[in-house]
Amino acid sequence: MQEKPTTIYTTPKGAIPIKSPTKNHILKILQNKPMTGSQITKKINKSKSTTSVHLQDLQKLNLIKTQKHPEDARKKIYKTNTNQIGKTSKPTDQNYKKILKNIQNTENTQQLLKGLFHTIRYGLKSLGIDIHPALKQMGQDIGKALAPKFQSNNTQDLLKEIQKYWQKHQLGQIQIQKNTITIKDCFDCSDMPEIGRPLCSLDEGIIEGIINTKTQNNIQITETECYGLGHNHCKFQITKKQNNQNQNKTNTNT
Ligand SMILES: [Zn+2]
Repeated sequence: MQEKPTTIYTTPKGAIPIKSPTKNHILKILQNKPMTGSQITKKINKSKSTTSVHLQDLQKLNLIKTQKHPEDARKKIYKTNTNQIGKTSKPTDQNYKKILKNIQNTENTQQLLKGLFHTIRYGLKSLGIDIHPALKQMGQDIGKALAPKFQSNNTQDLLKEIQKYWQKHQLGQIQIQKNTITIKDCFDCSDMPEIGRPLCSLDEGIIEGIINTKTQNNIQITETECYGLGHNHCKFQITKKQNNQNQNKTNTNT
């Protein structure tokens, strides 16, 4: 049987690893929306007392916090107080070896820098740490830092500026459709073999960070096609983020 990964979370006091699948499940569902104790109990399909013990543990670790229910002061609402940084994974050094070989064989500065970036990421993977979620967060920080370089205040015009920026810095060739963008020769993944999942969480974060800093749209970028999935391009869907506060509202995004 395959062992469940330990997930690593960030807190102001440092990173905390959580091995319990139930605790990880609770943190995952609270990431999507805050919930009451009974809603969590139902969702994770455990007894009330088991759920309560897990919630207390998570609260002690400062990974979740509570607030009073706006309509019923006797009830508490649980919210997540953390972000996922990464998780343990089976060490794989297949990609790592390929990247080291690329570095050895290239005389091109752009390729060398790309190789160094990939070395850090896949080097960690070869040690058994997958930092996929942290990359998205770092991407968002990069996007925020880059945002003052962009002039527009609406998503479509910003995408055109991002397209030019990507081209100028050889980050990839962007094509814009209505709610999707396609990237050819993506700097993040174009040399990577098919590994069964998308790879470009850094890109997702950067584009999200630029657009959400410059507009009030609160969009979310999700990669659906990638070199990592066997495509010869990356494709990203642009959707509006669900508002955590509107718990009763159903998602009408298309
Ligand atoms: Zn990709």
